Amino acid sequence: MELWYTEEHSDNVRFSIRVDKQLYSGKSEFQRIDILYSNEFGTFLTLDSLMMLTEKDEFIYHDMIVHVPMAVNPAIKKVLVIGGGDGGTVRELARYKTIEQIDLVEIDEMVVEACRKYLPTTTCSLDDERVNIYYEDGLRFVRHIENEYDLIIVDSTDSFGPGESLFTKAFYGNCYKALKEDGILVNQHESPYYAAYANSFKRAHSRIVEFFPITKVYEAHIPTYPSGYWMFGFASKKYDPVEDLKADEWNALKLETGYYNTDLHRNCFSLPNYVKRILEDS
Ligand code: SAM
Repeated sequence: MELWYTEEHSDNVRFSIRVDKQLYSGKSEFQRIDILYSNEFGTFLTLDSLMMLTEKDEFIYHDMIVHVPMAVNPAIKKVLVIGGGDGGTVRELARYKTIEQIDLVEIDEMVVEACRKYLPTTTCSLDDERVNIYYEDGLRFVRHIENEYDLIIVDSTDSFGPGESLFTKAFYGNCYKALKEDGILVNQHESPYYAAYANSFKRAHSRIVEFFPITKVYEAHIPTYPSGYWMFGFASKKYDPVEDLKADEWNALKLETGYYNTDLHRNCFSLPNYVKRILEDS
């Protein structure tokens, strides 16, 4: 009998992938964790039946969440990643020899353990000596930190369940405080296309704008996320993500990437009118 993984992208739309193997299923204190295998997408991770990543397209998400801020300030040394228990964001950060410390704050240890076993392609840098893993709620972790990080990356689940606190005003205010004078905040910003996701996108943006003088949104094409069209937020106390792009410096690093390049960087902040309108109304 054929087995299919099906996710509701809206009340009227479902997205399905044929499952060729079930690798792991578990329930933690926070969420249900499934790791499945598809002949098309390779191994993939879902939390509470929502797609987190597939081996085939995770490079797009992880390239965009890491290399965009790193190309704006290649001198970044101390990074905080909130969420991101699959390790993909840490893997990309660890490629920069100039980064001295990466603190990963993941609420759910079971996600990390399951990914270590079934997704070694993303967890491969979690044992890098610059990486510290804290199993804690991200909102609690940032609460008492001041002026410490060059970059905070919010690699969270969606704006409900355990990830809800990472979309609040209190959280963004604490991130602002935890960043240094020239700090950058990047967050996964949901999709502007289907109403439920667009509402979280709009709400999150309107909250970030309250704290940061520079806030921009950028896009990527991620086939397995709702609508295939995904947004990231860039907020900074100092840098404009396009005007301050250090293209020559970043290109001199000669990092091989599957999606990100500095030409794409200049253009990914150019948004369609319907997305601009959502942001203007927020
Ligand atoms: N790339 C993914 C996406 O956008 O769908 C995100 C992947 S990563 C697996 C998300 C992680 O955030 C999960 O492992 C989840 O446990 C973690 N998380 C959710 N809420 C959290 C919180 N409040 N504090 C820290 N980590 C949290």
